[in-house]
Amino acid sequence: MQNKPIYVTMPALPPLDEFVHYLEGIWSRRVLTNQGPLHQEFEQLLAAYLEVPHLSLFSSGTAALVTALQALDLTGEVITTPFSFVATSNAIMWNGLTPVFVDIDPDTLNLDATQIEQAITPKTTAILAVHCYGYPCDTSEIGAIATRHGLKVIYDAAHAFGVRDGNGSILKHGDLSVVSFHATKVFNTFEGGAVICGSAELKSRLDQLKNFGLASETEMASPGLNGKMSEINAAMGLVQLRHINDAITARKVVDARYRAALANVRGIRCLEGSAKAPNFSYFPVLITDDFPISRDELHALLKEENIYARRYFYPLLCDLGAYSHLPSATGDFGVARPSSERIMCLPIYPDLAWHDVDRIVATIAKAAAV
Ligand SMILES: *Cc1c(COP(=O)(O)O)cnc(C)c1O
Repeated sequence: MQNKPIYVTMPALPPLDEFVHYLEGIWSRRVLTNQGPLHQEFEQLLAAYLEVPHLSLFSSGTAALVTALQALDLTGEVITTPFSFVATSNAIMWNGLTPVFVDIDPDTLNLDATQIEQAITPKTTAILAVHCYGYPCDTSEIGAIATRHGLKVIYDAAHAFGVRDGNGSILKHGDLSVVSFHATKVFNTFEGGAVICGSAELKSRLDQLKNFGLASETEMASPGLNGKMSEINAAMGLVQLRHINDAITARKVVDARYRAALANVRGIRCLEGSAKAPNFSYFPVLITDDFPISRDELHALLKEENIYARRYFYPLLCDLGAYSHLPSATGDFGVARPSSERIMCLPIYPDLAWHDVDRIVATIAKAAAV
């Protein structure tokens, strides 16, 4: 008999009756979108929960990223990482800008701050870094480089909901940070996202741009998207907020069980972030050369056991057809390339059963022993 499938993640769902309560409100008010009351309430409570000054809700993390870059009036080149989800570099392209890929740091797999400066040209206007797996980037070094060269900094913080470093929320770094509330993320509103910013002025610019760029009924400031979050997604967010701390605590338990069980498996390196308050959004491991089979062989072997680990992130963005023609795509990426060939994210979600964690570990340990 085939074991039941274990996916890399399962969306956290709050108690249905709590959601239904909000639906009844939507039905009685007949306000479905356009910054309705739930949108406003969620925006306020979320900013308070995340301990950030201002944020603007969006219909997706990608719409939020595209609009964040647009709001900063960038031109030319944007320095970014090749080790991320396609939405990161796609958002640069959507704005008519050129991504410039720079290699990553071997410990965090985030943009290597020591290699940014050599990629800066007269055309560079911004750095778009990713807090991969919610592990904080070297924000102080990136900030110092940006100041020296007059660049904007945007963080793709799609993985970094609620993460804190020694100075509080990591979402406060840079000019703008973007989070995603997609179903697969730590905190979900079915689909959704937000841009975090430091001033009320920037927030109103973002609010305008996500509403077609309209400045009034008859005026348009700049051509914007329809990136508005609907009332139903905001309702989901309000319910999820009540349960997010429990969800992160449950993830922490899974994380600890993996770390203990994999500690003695030769050739498996569990990654570790430096966040003061991590969110346990992913469980990335590197299948090193000490492991008897390759990452792809282990990935396939797990699949045969109905365990769906994911190769986040493979292939590198610079190797995708849309990007491989760029001058920066031909770099040697001495860290990003081998990492992308060895990385695998194991299943993690709040109600992942212990016996399922044990089955995943046992499958890996068996492969390690041959
Ligand atoms: C999920 C994700 C996004 C996009 O978010 P959506 O809400 O799915 O549009 C962007 N960047 C990274 C790194 C992601 O993982």
